[in-house]
Amino acid sequence: MTQRTALVTGGTGGIGTAIVRYLARQGHRVATNYRDAAKAEAWRQAMTQEGIDVFMVQGDVSDPASCESMVREVEAKLGPVEILINNAGITRDTTFHKMTYAQWMDVVNTNLNACFNVTRQVIESMRSHKWGRIVQISSINGQKGQYGQANYAAAKAGMHGFTISLAQENAKFGITVNTVSPGYVGTDMVMAVPEEVREKIVAQIPVGRLGKPEEIAHAVAFLTGEEAAWITGTNLAINGGHYMGW
Ligand code: NDP
Repeated sequence: MTQRTALVTGGTGGIGTAIVRYLARQGHRVATNYRDAAKAEAWRQAMTQEGIDVFMVQGDVSDPASCESMVREVEAKLGPVEILINNAGITRDTTFHKMTYAQWMDVVNTNLNACFNVTRQVIESMRSHKWGRIVQISSINGQKGQYGQANYAAAKAGMHGFTISLAQENAKFGITVNTVSPGYVGTDMVMAVPEEVREKIVAQIPVGRLGKPEEIAHAVAFLTGEEAAWITGTNLAINGGHYMGW
């Protein structure tokens, strides 16, 4: 299998860790960003104990200048980024009539504008090497909307618009661009939801449980594989049957 250089944003989070682990175990050279050095070091040590070596670089995906230096550091250490997973994300939930401008902007900057900030820094090298894999980690709530998440749903839906445009522009350069839209996965982001709300969510999932981060990582690895060259501009919904639309 060809070993590639992969950058997973938000690789220290619940889903990100599973993606980093999966790609590293496939033999890829994997990098991720961090914001808090102490937290990052504890995470890196845990990965090292598993035998996984990850290059860690400071970076805030909502900040274009930070993304530029982050990608240059990854290139210098591991070579040009060939696989990019735009995974970092946040929520700032509240109903729209109470939503502040800061809550709107934080979510749009971290989930959607980040796709511009990071992808813009890797796209030229992918085009010149005529190979690339880009995956946006969107959300079920970008597909169906969600009470209390106008900011998040708008940003996540926007990520797929980004995907399908980029897929068209770059198909002739051997670059595929796809979206993965997870349903509710048992990470910190979802465990922060009150238990009674979580129980109601699980009751709506035909498979009858929350997803596992590894189940998202498996799909990401599939889309980033050499054999997935003809899959581009798609949105892969992985949600236990919770939402079966586009
Ligand atoms: P986590 O909260 O566990 O992890 C989020 C990661 O993103 C962390 O590593 C965090 O770093 C990083 N991050 C947040 N903001 C920034 C920033 N400005 N710059 C750089 N890194 C940042 O979330 P999940 O693993 O659950 O979610 C991963 C992705 O999957 C997100 O995009 C989320 O929206 C999406 N998703 C998750 C679902 C779920 O059920 N969990 C469902 C659908 C989609 P730090 O530690 O520094 O905060």
